[in-house]
Amino acid sequence: GLTDRLQDIFRKLRGKGKITEEDVKVAMREVRLALLEADVNFKVVKDFINRVKDRAVGQEVLQSLTPGQQIIKIVYDEMTELMGGKESKLNLGSKTPSVIMAVGLQGAGKTTTVAKLAKTLVKQGRRPLLVACDVYRPAAIKQLQVLGEQIGVPVFSMGQNNPVDIARASLHHAKSNNRDIVILDTAGRLHINEELMEELKNIKEAVNPDEILLVVDAMTGQDAVNVAEAFNNDLGLTGVILTKLDGDTRGGAALSVKAVTGCPIKYVGMGEKLDALEVFHPDRMASRILGMGDILTLVEKAQASFDEKKAREMERKIRKQEFTLEDFLEQMQQVRAMGPLEEILGMIPGLGKQLKGMKAEFDEKELAHIEAIIKSMTPEERRNPEIINGSRKKRIARGSGTRVQDVNRLLKQFEESRKLMKQITDLTSKKGKKGGLP
Ligand code: GDP
Ligand code: MG
Repeated sequence: GLTDRLQDIFRKLRGKGKITEEDVKVAMREVRLALLEADVNFKVVKDFINRVKDRAVGQEVLQSLTPGQQIIKIVYDEMTELMGGKESKLNLGSKTPSVIMAVGLQGAGKTTTVAKLAKTLVKQGRRPLLVACDVYRPAAIKQLQVLGEQIGVPVFSMGQNNPVDIARASLHHAKSNNRDIVILDTAGRLHINEELMEELKNIKEAVNPDEILLVVDAMTGQDAVNVAEAFNNDLGLTGVILTKLDGDTRGGAALSVKAVTGCPIKYVGMGEKLDALEVFHPDRMASRILGMGDILTLVEKAQASFDEKKAREMERKIRKQEFTLEDFLEQMQQVRAMGPLEEILGMIPGLGKQLKGMKAEFDEKELAHIEAIIKSMTPEERRNPEIINGSRKKRIARGSGTRVQDVNRLLKQFEESRKLMKQITDLTSKKGKKGGLP
């Protein structure tokens, strides 16, 4: 998948101590190919690569201590921008009921998605009404009714009547039944055709929707983008919902839709279940594509307060299990300078669970205690805490003006943090998760 490809490219970059303009060019050629293979629109790729290259060959980047990471950061920033910058919320207007119209080709996931959306809105305290405007297959109405029942949302249907009349009638029904959002499930076709667009335009005219959301299948790659462009030209979309992202290892549609159509992706479907709908966050999607969790924010923070050389030396020690209590003290002082530890560790992918059980708060006083305890140890004890037995603990406690419990607690913290840091360095140096997106 795209994620694996990009990680390979960036690993090579990071592995180099010094990066030349030529290295950047080579890497960008590889990124370009990876994006094209991921089915990203050709023009989008071209513009993207040019923007990244322009920024990456700048003096400040190449001469920095971490050029590889800086370039990855640029790619991340530009990817985020490409997908819309920040999240785009539903715009439900002020009239009641609000109207959301879902459109798209057959099988894209419209019916499933309107049910997911209704469920989301119920959670936000809204009272949606689902409306069956796909009248061509009786099974479609039944499908919506079944889903509505599952999520406890009423479904308005009028059999195989004219969809425009149904849409209009559903507004009255919503008003008299105290529903504040009408969600129209419209019919699709296998391909875009005049008849379909005509019908959708008529519905639009009849109910004046606040949102016209195109539902497209991410797995169809550039086709999804072409469909979006066509619907937008004919109908005027307010947003896109990208479904089946759970099965999309390429990411081409997610990366191209906004740039090609100007329409933001508002939600993504991550599975068949009715709670598998997520608000689309361009920044998180970019980290997902790059396979780095929220590690970039972490890199930013670390760069702001860490001494580069020291950090590298520390990493080497952790990997070789040479990490001592003295290093522990130094690391804690550095980490303290970055902000609350819990917040920092929370950005590292895969560590959420461990954190729950770990109280990661060091206040100044405790830090002073820790410092005193470590200073009361012999160099041998600092390197080999295993040898610290009962009588040594008593001596250390006395020497540092603390209690034996305090010494025990420190040793336990040290052990935990040594384990944790080993995991972090393994995580950030090894290949990321298998299988592309997500
Ligand atoms: P419609 O013809 O556009 O109304 O599409 P449907 O809602 O009937 O969905 C078509 C198929 O896609 C169904 O089998 C859904 O379960 C499936 N589907 C919809 N959204 C998703 C998604 O986000 N992930 C996955 N894996 N399947 C989905
Ligand atoms: Mg349907």
